[in-house]
Amino acid sequence: FDQLSAVDPEIAQVVLGELDRLRGGLQLIASENLTSPAVLAALGSTLTNKYAEGYPGRRYYGGCAEVDRAEEIGIARARELFGAEHANLQPHSGASANLAAYAALVQPGDTVLAMELPHGGHLTHGSRVNFSGRWFGTVGYPVRPDTELIDYDEVRDLARAHRPKMIICGATAYPRLIDFRRFREIADEVSAYLVVDAAHFIGLVAGGAIPSPVPYADVVCATTHKVLRGPRGGMILCRESLAQRIDKAVFPFTQGGPLMHAVAAKAVALREAAQPEFRTYAARVVDNARALAAGLADEGMRPVSGGTDTHLALIDLRGLGVTGAEAEARCDAAGITLNKNAIPYDPQRPMVASGIRVGTPSVTTQGMREGEMRRIAGLIGRAVRTDPADPGGADATARIAAEVAELVAEFPAYPR
Ligand code: PLP
Repeated sequence: FDQLSAVDPEIAQVVLGELDRLRGGLQLIASENLTSPAVLAALGSTLTNKYAEGYPGRRYYGGCAEVDRAEEIGIARARELFGAEHANLQPHSGASANLAAYAALVQPGDTVLAMELPHGGHLTHGSRVNFSGRWFGTVGYPVRPDTELIDYDEVRDLARAHRPKMIICGATAYPRLIDFRRFREIADEVSAYLVVDAAHFIGLVAGGAIPSPVPYADVVCATTHKVLRGPRGGMILCRESLAQRIDKAVFPFTQGGPLMHAVAAKAVALREAAQPEFRTYAARVVDNARALAAGLADEGMRPVSGGTDTHLALIDLRGLGVTGAEAEARCDAAGITLNKNAIPYDPQRPMVASGIRVGTPSVTTQGMREGEMRRIAGLIGRAVRTDPADPGGADATARIAAEVAELVAEFPAYPR
């Protein structure tokens, strides 16, 4: 860091400022986590210099012996941890992993069935502003209005009616378990590929806190930076029979040279995720999310679907008469980072939204438990209700921020 400060004080300030932000506030974005110093060391290594187009032993560049080892070790760890026949660690991100899955399994114009974006799906599951919606004929399945859960009978009816080539399950804002076996049955009935987009929850699978999609899916796409606590990046797991197609879809079809520093950092994260402590961590992430959702319910905010089985809760704020955008800004002012989120059948525009999404990967990494989740719920409840424009609003926000600072000081992120 001294060298960065000497060469580029402006960017050094950004790095320090971000560290201060992480240390000084509550990080409740469900898709974020706090990577270990070991992962950061691999990311900040000279492996970033290396061009290594191709795969271990089959590169288009010389000098790849060292990075070959990193990738081979990472692939072996991923296969072992998830019981997968094949793993590809090269996707630059979750969206890149999904793009490669499309490229491997379907042709432009083919029909794909995936969860509707406003109900928790991801942009890559058929949004018109994304390649998926532009190049494929995507059909969306909703959640039920009454239970806010996936209606597997409706998914089956849609599959029978539209005969998709590929079905995607997995979501960005769905707090409940997904029945992979049901999806497999539906995919088999219409001879479709089943892709599980496990970007959000692959870390919970790694830690044994929720069931694995690997035995059911043709292809599992994931990110490595969410609950899994690795570097920003993507990963694909698949059956051996699809290995070549997946590898070719990643390189050379959709990507060029892999980011070997990131591949090495993924290997480090996979080693960390295979330790017994990670199992404890994953279980606590879910316990904490349940406690946080229950605490927020006590504060008059409604958890969508009644609660959570995962690392995140989606919270309907309509009972308080506060929008998601207002809640996000008010929490931000109090040192609580979370995001506004559409709830199923949301009457608001996405940029306003009626809800917020909260997740526990980061605070659990910091060592917080259910007792702290109840404190956090109380702080969010007060922050969301505090209109800064009201008399005394700014003071009230400052008091909440001070309590947030006290709480996080007990569980420091990146202890000095
Ligand atoms: N798939 C799902 C379900 C996601 O939630 C996300 C990101 O949040 C992605 C894919 C894309 O990941 P990335 O942002 O790394 O491209």
